[in-house]
Amino acid sequence: MGNSITSLFKIQHPIIQAGMIWCSGWELASSVSNAGGLGIIGSGSMYPEVLDEQIAKCKVVTSKPFAVNLPMLYPDIDKHIETIIKYKVPIVFTSAGNPKTWTKHLQDHGIVVVHVVSSVKFALKAEAAGVDAIVAEGFEAGGHNGRDETTTLCLIPMVADAIKIPLIAAGGIGTGRTMLSAMILGADAVQVGSRFVASNESSAHINFKNSVVEAKEGDTQLTLKEITPVRLIKNPFYNKLSDAYEQGANTDELKALLGRGRAKKGMFEGDLIEGELEIGQISGLINEIKPAADIVQEILSEYNMALKEFSTDKYNF
Ligand code: NDP
Repeated sequence: MGNSITSLFKIQHPIIQAGMIWCSGWELASSVSNAGGLGIIGSGSMYPEVLDEQIAKCKVVTSKPFAVNLPMLYPDIDKHIETIIKYKVPIVFTSAGNPKTWTKHLQDHGIVVVHVVSSVKFALKAEAAGVDAIVAEGFEAGGHNGRDETTTLCLIPMVADAIKIPLIAAGGIGTGRTMLSAMILGADAVQVGSRFVASNESSAHINFKNSVVEAKEGDTQLTLKEITPVRLIKNPFYNKLSDAYEQGANTDELKALLGRGRAKKGMFEGDLIEGELEIGQISGLINEIKPAADIVQEILSEYNMALKEFSTDKYNF
């Protein structure tokens, strides 16, 4: 049994843990891979020597496939790519940039390449660039996001109709029911980020994990579209941004207010006042920090229960 994604990645369950800056290192990635999903090391916040160490550690604790997420805007991307090739990492998820630049080079080294997009237009471009699969991420997602505000509910069926290669749905998925919805919409797998931030193995600061658990519906907002759109928790730093918008701040003023290292401050150092706390809308459904393997199991069993429920007469019209 399996589908196009489980075969492509050689994994058991079509559940992929998103590569998230400051949150997904070797402990989280290896735990998800050992639980039968696909774990991803988020390399965007790692200096080259840190990524090297993280991959080496991951390989010690899992013999299962895992991936590295590579944001194309990362300043030392060549060094990250050398490290990925050196360790024979089997799968790379590229994001935030042109998939043409590195896809062939990675594939020539036997690496499966997946690109993250937020629109049909970019899904088609990524397919034309030769990637092996696509992640389509809707407006609900945490962290960096598209400008068009297309929700997962609308984006997935549109991308599924447009492309021929396997499709992974992301944005607003963190439970079995949301996973089943995404599969019904046309996805072959789901990518889950926020739910794994609130896991024991995530490298996020405990203050950030607790604020994810406490977040309710309406507590996140997509902002900073003039720089790089990002969904974050409405904390005092967000309020400062909001005040700046009200006063008509221009892009340079917004950039100055953002400064450098805000994401590290919030998500890794636990500064809930001044830091940037990137998380998705699904945080409103996350109520507990638990082991990553339990999260994978919980999503799967809820998915299977929901699937059974939908096979009953109640839904047979
Ligand atoms: P900032 O420019 O605010 O800060 C850069 C941060 O990245 C610092 O905290 C720094 O750590 C760390 N870092 C790691 N490696 C390097 C390096 N080679 N050169 C400079 N800094 C490095 O960026 P953000 O915190 O908002 O984002 C960090 C990176 O994550 C971005 O450059 C981008 O590549 C990536 N990113 C990708 C996203 C995506 O794919 N959707 C989303 C968000 C970010 P230190 O403080 O220890 O110096």
